[in-house]
Amino acid sequence: MLDRARELDAADPLSGYRDRFDLPDGVIYLDGNSLGALPRATSARMQQVIREEWGEGLIRSWNDADWISAARRVGGKIAPLIGAGPREVVACDSTSVNLFKLIAAALDMRSGRKVILSEPGNFPTDLYMIAGLERQGLAERRLAERDKLIGALDDDVALLLLTQVHYKSGAMHDMAGLTSAAHGAGALVLWDLSHSGGAMPVDLNACHADFAVGCGYKYLNGGPGAPAYAFVAERHHAALHQPLTGWFGHAAPFEFSDDYAPAPGIDRLQCGTSPILGLAALEVGVELIAEIGVDRLFGKSRALSEFFLECLVEQDLKLELVSPQDSAERGSQLSFRHPEAYAICQALIARGVIGDFRDPDILRLGFAPAYLRFEDMAEAARHLAEVLRTGEWERPEFRERAAVT
Ligand SMILES: *Cc1c(COP(=O)(O)O)cnc(C)c1O
Repeated sequence: MLDRARELDAADPLSGYRDRFDLPDGVIYLDGNSLGALPRATSARMQQVIREEWGEGLIRSWNDADWISAARRVGGKIAPLIGAGPREVVACDSTSVNLFKLIAAALDMRSGRKVILSEPGNFPTDLYMIAGLERQGLAERRLAERDKLIGALDDDVALLLLTQVHYKSGAMHDMAGLTSAAHGAGALVLWDLSHSGGAMPVDLNACHADFAVGCGYKYLNGGPGAPAYAFVAERHHAALHQPLTGWFGHAAPFEFSDDYAPAPGIDRLQCGTSPILGLAALEVGVELIAEIGVDRLFGKSRALSEFFLECLVEQDLKLELVSPQDSAERGSQLSFRHPEAYAICQALIARGVIGDFRDPDILRLGFAPAYLRFEDMAEAARHLAEVLRTGEWERPEFRERAAVT
């Protein structure tokens, strides 16, 4: 398989992009879906922002280096990756905070309705942010399994809140179909793109989506804790009222008025002062992903995951795949169920193959296509086979749980 892998790498039009990332030697990184790798250009850009814009320019840089429009500018660069217009996306806050703002805004737009419909097992923060609004008496959570979501839409549902690609299984929802069904029931739709944005083509406007949020530190390679992004379809801008009415979302923040007036467009989603260092790093990651192109990235990620499954067959490994078999129906990851998934994951990490574990029994391997090679697939499959065959994972040090798993 290694020979075939090398042939595939030689023929891969994206192979040159690996060099645009700073990857440690001896590591096969299968966790770009949790924390994207470091683009080579990021360090220099950060040095420039820190030394020149902050160190020399000081407060003048809000104008001179255009810090004031950084959130909108970076949002505008994310927009084409997710099928949004340039004035429909802003880079700000965390995904969790953006969820809160948009769930609350949707409830405000659908007065008389309180139900937020989602699925059990959605990413925890998505469900927890509903809980906060429930406690305030504003929302009511309803959960329905994937195949029962459409049947659970009724006159009480204000918002359908779903993650397009499931963080654990990698299964992808039908964005167009579910959005249209929700609209048919008079509800709005909020898509969490954390595991799809930057990894595959997403077409929010073609699907008539209302709202979306997503992470900057996963497939966009913005760095740990990078600012997130939020999308609001232009048709909703005028009627959108989010509850975190901070001064950066004000129509004229530097008039220092006593009264809040929302900015006319997507800027009303901002709250406090933009994290300029974080936005600078995110911008580098976004530009690189935009240069490669999400269509090409998804094509390669499908080829990588299909090749990895072939390598498992070649190694005679039979693992239970919980991701969809068809690569068109899943994101850039493969998840396997094994009762000892945690220890297996630790044994792989000790060999330099970094994947992750999701409670209670999922080994999750992400195939960020911008920097992985087919050779990495063959090697990772060989390591996995060796770990399982030798029982290496049974060593006690691989069973100790760290704070972050
Ligand atoms: C990673 C992830 C988040 C993370 O939210 P933060 O506020 O950045 O911690 C939210 N939703 C989904 C679906 C995710 O995968």
